[in-house]
Amino acid sequence: MKADLLVIGGGLHGLSVALQSARRGVSVILVERHFLGRHASGATAAGVRTLGRHPAELPLSLEAAATWHAMTDLVGDDCGFNACGQLQVAEDETALAKIRDRVSRLEAQGFTHERLIGSNELHSLVPDLARHCLGAAWTVDDGSADPHRTIGAFRDAAIAAGVQIVEKCLVTGLVRHSTHWLAQTSKGVIEAGLIVNAGGAWADQVAALAGDPVHQAIRTSMMVVTERTSARVKPVVSSLGQKLSFKQTAQGTLVIGGGSQGKLAPDRQSASVDMVALAASVGAAVRLFPAVEGIRIVRTWAGMEAMTPDHLPVIGFSHRVDGLIHAFGFSGHGFQLVPSVGRAVADLVCQGSTNLDLSAFDVTRIAIERAAA
Ligand SMILES: Cc1cc2nc3c(=O)[nH]c(=O)nc-3n(C[C@H](O)[C@H](O)[C@H](O)COP(=O)(O)OP(=O)(O)OC[C@H]3O[C@@H](n4cnc5c(N)ncnc54)[C@H](O)[C@@H]3O)c2cc1C
Repeated sequence: MKADLLVIGGGLHGLSVALQSARRGVSVILVERHFLGRHASGATAAGVRTLGRHPAELPLSLEAAATWHAMTDLVGDDCGFNACGQLQVAEDETALAKIRDRVSRLEAQGFTHERLIGSNELHSLVPDLARHCLGAAWTVDDGSADPHRTIGAFRDAAIAAGVQIVEKCLVTGLVRHSTHWLAQTSKGVIEAGLIVNAGGAWADQVAALAGDPVHQAIRTSMMVVTERTSARVKPVVSSLGQKLSFKQTAQGTLVIGGGSQGKLAPDRQSASVDMVALAASVGAAVRLFPAVEGIRIVRTWAGMEAMTPDHLPVIGFSHRVDGLIHAFGFSGHGFQLVPSVGRAVADLVCQGSTNLDLSAFDVTRIAIERAAA
């Protein structure tokens, strides 16, 4: 097997890079050790959120937000995107002061996507919200999408663009020759000029195989889905300083997440739910929405993805190895960024640079120095 570009990892970031590179005439093979969307991209809460983003992520996030509103143009489907808005509520004066401060700083920099709202507007947006909530940051153009529909749409668009997708294909070795890579995989050797490392929770292993070792932790965020209940909440709701995100699907189920961590298996290949930690998220949801108390939980799970020390992703060329581009480390908030990261990495693949400032995402900040010979 031979292509211009080998993408390692069949999550949404790998698919987005593969699609947007192939559309520009690059031949692409994408390999996935399990099946597409098996890990973070299939486990995600799929919140489409510019709200509360680190300033370094805002250019990527705002570009992505515009694409989510026109997703059909990119992949022929709206991916179930519902622009229901997102709210980050303040449960006390300290939280309200932090939100007020952040919104003022954003406005001073010319950003208008977040707006501070007071108690009256907040409770008219979400009548069931507990009365102690004092105000919120409100992003009217944010929302959430359907992760499995998103994976299907990116897969179909990538295949239509000519991407060769190989599932159940584990990359076990990478050797750089002067002009190309030879990748050993469980389905044979693949030759490619460039590699994109979109290996999610195992991106550090891919980086080490390629000769560019990095430090990275693994997040194991948990989710809860309840039985259906009457329509109560339109926006996605989070609470500053709490591990909580709360939304209601069109079918009436409540989806509760927000970053409570599950248990990572010792071999780092799987994660399971930690019921004690999960109870904290569920407790926060009941505190914010007392009316949901007593609704039954029908499903819980823990998803896995790479986490960096500063919670920013790694996007860009390796500085130690030719022909290697990283796109991993999304630290629990990479779903929304899928269209713009794919666009920026496709720029790197096709023209060697991009107009987006990727300096905050440079791999050097998590590089493991090699021992001197
Ligand atoms: C529970 C949970 C909730 C989340 N909620 C949100 C949210 O609301 N909003 C938001 O913006 N983000 C959210 N995220 C984060 C978001 O889902 C992820 O950032 C995003 O899906 C990461 O996509 P990815 O393609 O980088 O990784 P993945 O989807 O994990 O894909 C990486 C793939 O690489 C494969 N792979 C690794 N090594 C190899 C190898 N050697 N050979 C072949 N294949 C390999 C893996 O099998 C895996 O399928 C959430 C994540 C989780 C887990």
